[in-house]
Amino acid sequence: MTKEVLLGAHMSIRGGVSMAIERANSIHCTAMQIFVKNNMQWFAPPLRQQEIRAFLNHLQRRELLSIFAHANYLINLAATNPQFHANSIRSLSEELTRADQLRLPFLVLHPGAHLGAGEEAGLEQIVESIDRVLTGLPKIKTRIALETTAGQGSCLGSSFEHLAYLISCVREPERLCVCLDTAHVFAAGYDISSEAAMRKTLREFDRVIGRDRLVAIHLNDCKTAFGSRVDRHEHIGKGRIGLDAFRFIIRNRRFHKIPKVLETPKGKDLREDVMNLKTLRSLAESNDEARMANASPR
Ligand SMILES: [Zn+2]
Ligand SMILES: [Zn+2]
Repeated sequence: MTKEVLLGAHMSIRGGVSMAIERANSIHCTAMQIFVKNNMQWFAPPLRQQEIRAFLNHLQRRELLSIFAHANYLINLAATNPQFHANSIRSLSEELTRADQLRLPFLVLHPGAHLGAGEEAGLEQIVESIDRVLTGLPKIKTRIALETTAGQGSCLGSSFEHLAYLISCVREPERLCVCLDTAHVFAAGYDISSEAAMRKTLREFDRVIGRDRLVAIHLNDCKTAFGSRVDRHEHIGKGRIGLDAFRFIIRNRRFHKIPKVLETPKGKDLREDVMNLKTLRSLAESNDEARMANASPR
């Protein structure tokens, strides 16, 4: 049963994208998130056919029931500097192309930071930017998964309304979906620390964004206080959110088909991932709190 839970972690692509498959496999992940190139660089040479084939044909790839991508951290579709904005458009286009070559269903993206221009102007610019990127890539099947953010600084996407606005304004809304990050929503002021609070937050998500848009969950505990708008990930059960939220997500039938991945701090030996996955799997298996899981949230 544990095997069927779509659960894993973000994995490094050091040594080539197919290496991530082996890393994920070594700690028995069934889901994985990767960058499609160095996440601190704007651009990279295109993926070589050989590397694409090594990834697609990797024998261990079938163990991973869900693999998806996260965009690099430099991209800011709301950038006010014209050069940064142009770089962001090109970088996102190239990463969507790479993700599509690797047949990944979506690329997780932080909507952007308005840098003082104001929320409205920032959101407008993001809409126009997404339209430009997607119009330029008519054949790409990889969708953009907008991530809920903590709202640090001038980052947009900390309210469900921001994401709903972007989805409703772009020309091709069917090419957008949403990734929910537990640490980010908590820091942004959406309480998920008890079952009742979690249900309320999910009802809000469904009402504002729509439950069918949700394609992935980032499982991170939060080092910073509720509503702090400061983005610091912590190991599962060691932060301010508490285990109830994670138990709910792991056990709720609604999320069975949604990949859930860790983005918690770790070293090369993946020891911390092993620890966090063990915590999460034990939440999946323990029967004592079955009440949390069975009723589906309204
Ligand atoms: Zn992210
Ligand atoms: Zn995240």
